[in-house]
Amino acid sequence: MKVIVIGGSHGGYESVETIYETMPKNTVVNWYDQGDLDLVVNWSKERVDDAKDVRHMTNEALNKNHINLFSLSKVINIDASKHCIIAKNLVTDEEIVDYYDKLIIATGSDANKLRIPGTNLDRVMTMRGKVGINKVKQQLHNAQIKNVIIVGGGYIGIMAANMFSQAGNR
Ligand SMILES: Cc1cc2nc3c(=O)[nH]c(=O)nc-3n(C[C@H](O)[C@H](O)[C@H](O)COP(=O)(O)OP(=O)(O)OC[C@H]3O[C@@H](n4cnc5c(N)ncnc54)[C@H](O)[C@@H]3O)c2cc1C
Repeated sequence: MKVIVIGGSHGGYESVETIYETMPKNTVVNWYDQGDLDLVVNWSKERVDDAKDVRHMTNEALNKNHINLFSLSKVINIDASKHCIIAKNLVTDEEIVDYYDKLIIATGSDANKLRIPGTNLDRVMTMRGKVGINKVKQQLHNAQIKNVIIVGGGYIGIMAANMFSQAGNR
């Protein structure tokens, strides 16, 4: 059995972990993300202590378990009739045609951007994914920033408000 997983965030991660835990050990997983999957693997590794957890695997261990990472590879087409995807390596521009028995699409979502002028300014940021969150966190101790406006009062907005108020911002 060969499974292709598209998306290396929570949805993709849980899918790969579930395949690893529940499917026959010779199942091959080709795992694609347009971002850096190594970052995902290593970020999770920092946060989880259970040695049996797939999150602890090195790239070598992932390969040993037939889990192949295709980082910086954007899936640009799917042909369901042929059970194949086409992915473009964003570094080399090379196109890869890859075939699956099962396909899991976990391509998620982006932060909803407000359709108003100014959203492209440097200090207007969204909290989405590790890169975005780190960008916001870098501003926490920026002495030039005193007042912060947070748009959105869900748990992510509340988390941001908490972070900035603890750092002494208004
Ligand atoms: C600040 C913050 C804190 C959060 N904290 C929590 C928490 O504590 N607990 C919790 O349960 N949830 C939390 N969430 C929510 C959680 O992050 C989201 O629910 C989750 O990221 C959704 O995962 P996903 O895999 O569905 O999609 P996404 O995270 O959006 O990931 C989609 C992935 O697909 C990739 N992709 C998209 N298109 C393509 C393509 N064509 N080819 C290849 N790859 C592609 C993207 O690069 C991306 O990596 C938090 C979110 C934020 C922003």
